[in-house]
Amino acid sequence: MTGCGRYLLFICSGAAVEMDATEFRRRGREMVDYIADYIENIEKRQVYPDVEPGYLRGLIPQEAPEDPDSYDDVVKDIERVIMPGVTHWHSPYFYAYFPTASSFPAMLADMLSGAIGCIGFSWAASPACTELETVMLDWLGKMLNLPEDFIAGTSGKGGGVIQGSASDATLVALLAARRRKVQQILAEQPDRSEADIISKLVAYTSDQAHSSVERAGLIGSMRMRNVPTDEKFAVRGEAFRRIIEEDKNAGLIPTYFCATLGTTPSCAFDHITELGPICNAENMWMHIDAAYAGSSFICPEFRPLLNGVEFADSFNFNPHKWLLVNFDCSTMWVKRRSDLIGAFKMDPLYLKHDHEESGLITDYRHWQIPLSRRFRSLKMWFVFRMYGVKGLQDYIRQHVRLAKEFESMVRNDPRFEISADVKLGLVCFRLKGSNELNEALLKQINSARRIHLVPCQLAGTFVLRFAICARTTELRHVQEAWHHIGELASELLLKQRH
Ligand code: PLP
Repeated sequence: MTGCGRYLLFICSGAAVEMDATEFRRRGREMVDYIADYIENIEKRQVYPDVEPGYLRGLIPQEAPEDPDSYDDVVKDIERVIMPGVTHWHSPYFYAYFPTASSFPAMLADMLSGAIGCIGFSWAASPACTELETVMLDWLGKMLNLPEDFIAGTSGKGGGVIQGSASDATLVALLAARRRKVQQILAEQPDRSEADIISKLVAYTSDQAHSSVERAGLIGSMRMRNVPTDEKFAVRGEAFRRIIEEDKNAGLIPTYFCATLGTTPSCAFDHITELGPICNAENMWMHIDAAYAGSSFICPEFRPLLNGVEFADSFNFNPHKWLLVNFDCSTMWVKRRSDLIGAFKMDPLYLKHDHEESGLITDYRHWQIPLSRRFRSLKMWFVFRMYGVKGLQDYIRQHVRLAKEFESMVRNDPRFEISADVKLGLVCFRLKGSNELNEALLKQINSARRIHLVPCQLAGTFVLRFAICARTTELRHVQEAWHHIGELASELLLKQRH
């Protein structure tokens, strides 16, 4: 049919261009059913797709349709076009990277957030969006037993904010540290040029830190030095002190340290009780990146891993990784909100409102890089209320238990070794032998497509990472995964012998 013919049919059939509320109700129920079926049956889908790069372009037209497609046509294309190219992160056979969170309450809250659709850059732009966020960050801060300085309350100097990602939080902290240091030096030496000061600033992080930390240095134009880690892949005070002294002797100005609690390769923990006092004594900003591990600190038995946070200026972790709040929700706390506002505040007339600076409210646009922001705290509110702290703690403990089960399976097989301490839900392991052997094993595992893993490098060795990821992972899945890995290892070792 020609475009014109279709248009006529469209008019004559009286179909509306826009989906109306009646149709939305019906389609919404269908979509919720589709989603529930997807999650319930996800383990029947192959966890990692078979497609080749560019697979999608040929499956859909090269231009957007001139005339509307029907909703039924769109829905049909989910299975034809989208699902073949999806890596199923919520499959209980997904053990790669770190988890990304998913729960039904968070999905429902996200629907509501989408419907309200406000852009909460200031208190006035949607008071509920701002106020719920401040209170949720206090709730979560109290769950973690953060020092009082980080809690906003009604008169606190600190408080929390939702960033889009841990990378954002690291960058925001680095930029705030840079501003604070420049202002401090200019206050003492007003004749010095800002450009000269900035050229001398130096930031530090672990040689195991996530690449986003090095990137923050690149974006923020601050040289970033890696502090070497010990045999447990953690930064100790002594190594840090040495590198700072070297830099000060060279005329540089130590400004920022990003500690990691739960490194990406092996979930190692920097010794922040040693590092924090050094940062404080040197008047450096200490930021803590606990992107994955942070969720575990709601359990009293894991909370000691956060001891030393009292020395930090800012702390961040991702509830969207391990606390059942769907992406995106990366929570960041600062001790002194004035450090962020001092660094980033811009106030054009069109963003001003009557209640600014009342002390009771927050304009979150000053706490982040973009202006606009979604109503993300609804997801936290739904999840925290519907699981309760106890439900969330049970969830974390279940994942740690599964990781410990996997660790003992590995330890009971003399062909394998454990490559790093298993503290939370990540197990680093390898076949005893060469890097090539382990690379071949990983290749076999990922090409069989039954489970999905990614590797890391630890002290020059190629290591396989097994991270408990999906909410629905049970012991039977982990046992099945281990059995499968064992079989592939047997085949590989047999082939090697011949
Ligand atoms: N920091 C650590 C320790 C991580 O493990 C990760 C990702 O896994 C990140 C930062 C990056 O997180 P995001 O994707 O939220 O920026």
